[in-house]
Order: sequence, then structure tokens, then C-alpha cells
Amino acid sequence: MKLGAHMSIAGGLARALQRGAMLGCNTVQIFTKNANQWRAKPLSPAVIAAFLQAKAVSAIDPVIAHDSYLINLASPDDQIFQKSLHACHMEMERCECLQIPFLVMHPGAHKGKGEEEGIRRIVQALDHLHARTDEFRLKLTLETTAGQGTAIGYRFEQLAQILARVQKPDRLAICLDTAHIFAAGYDIRTPAAYQATLKAFDQTIGLERLAVIHLNDSQKPLGSRIDRHAHIGQGYIGKEGFVQIVRDPRLAHIPMILETPKEDDADRRNLALLRKLAQQQT
Ligand SMILES: [Zn+2]
Ligand SMILES: [Zn+2]
Repeated sequence: MKLGAHMSIAGGLARALQRGAMLGCNTVQIFTKNANQWRAKPLSPAVIAAFLQAKAVSAIDPVIAHDSYLINLASPDDQIFQKSLHACHMEMERCECLQIPFLVMHPGAHKGKGEEEGIRRIVQALDHLHARTDEFRLKLTLETTAGQGTAIGYRFEQLAQILARVQKPDRLAICLDTAHIFAAGYDIRTPAAYQATLKAFDQTIGLERLAVIHLNDSQKPLGSRIDRHAHIGQGYIGKEGFVQIVRDPRLAHIPMILETPKEDDADRRNLALLRKLAQQQT
């Protein structure tokens, strides 16, 4: 099982890997820069070398990156759209330098212009980014969203449309966030509900596209379209839903990342619970 958590890069990128290793993670997710700012200091050769060295001496593989929350590739505002393109390209370059294979991103929010127009913008942006990074191994990884506000990506069909319309769909992957899909209305609380949701994902998007899973319980009920993460087993999904996922052999090779609140050594507890759920006999 590939199990880890989102790790802070306070004190340097390499520190995130050390923090993950301390928790027994064999995968982690990081921001490669401050997620609340557009700009970033370029990565120096020394920083890159320290990161690759820390990764080499750890059992962590793969490292996943998540992009800045400011980026909106569906923005109807031309200035924000251009800024987002530029920032996303910069993040792609950082990931490629750090040998990170997947950069998770939310598809975008249409801000009232409608889902069709939002998806058109996203497709245009992804084609542009792919053309500028033709030699990259990195895959932009579109995350399922809760559908809060005008966010796109809360229906599997919306992600499927993006995949169908970009020029290079093989340069994209998908990240499934359990709290987001649940808030969006996809139930996973019982074996039957989980199987139906996974089947819908497979038939609409294709399980072969699934590259990353975010394991979060939800503070808000099914279909609420509100994005609030809870500790594993302490939200509306509950332990049984996570049992389905961590014991599904079809997902056994996919990195699973916690993005739950961090207070009081919570990562250690959530990781221990997930390991227990994965091993328990039924
Ligand atoms: Zn996310
Ligand atoms: Zn997530």
C-alpha cells in the first residue's frame, strides 16, 4: 500500500520528505511553493539536489505535488486566466526539476459563466500548457471537486469531457478525493454504494486514469457540495467507507494521501487507523 499525507515544506522542500519518513509514509504530497502566493523564488540547484538526496535516502516514492489555490484555469477574467497559465507553467517546471510525476490541480471555477464556458477555458489552457512542456514527464492531475461555488469537476462527466476535448489526454491523470466526491453526491459508505461509485468512475473516466487518491472524511453530508475535510472515521463517510477503498485490490498500487487537519499529531493517528482498516479481517 502506498500511504502518506500532505506534508509542510516549512524549513525547505527536503524537510517535507523527512517529516513524511518520520510518520512511516511511503508517499507524500507537497506544495512546491507557498500555495497562497502567485510568485516563488526559483529553485536553486542546491535546493533541488537536497530534495533529491532526501528522497533517495527515504522510502518515499512517489512524491505528489498540489498546485496553488490561486490558479483558476476556468477564469473568465483574462488577467487572472493569463496569470493562472503562467503560474501553472512555473509549477510544472518546478515539478519536472524535482522529478515529481504528478501535479494535482483543481480544474477551475467558471465564476458564473457556466460549466460549458468553464470547460472550454480549461481545455484551452491545458492544450497551451501541454504545448509549452512537450518534453516533460510530469502529468497534470485533475482532481475531483466538491462542486462548491462554481467549481468544475464535481461530476465525473465533467472530467471525462476535459479528457475527451484536450489534444493530449495521455498527458493528464485524475486524482479522486473521497471528501470531495462524497460532498458532490457520490456515496461510498457501504460496499454496494462504493462499488456503484467506482463503477461510475470507471465507465465515465476509466480507472486506468486514476493516479492519486486523497483520503479525507467529510464534515458535510452527502451531496452538500461543501468542501470540509474531517479526520478518518469522524465525518459523514465513516470508517466503513475507507475500508472499501484501502482493501480494494484495484487501487492497491495508487498513492493515497491524507489531507486532514493537522492538530495534535493527527496524521500519525489517521495513518495508523488506515493501516489497521487495510489489514483487518472481514
Ligand atoms: Zn486539492
Ligand atoms: Zn484533495
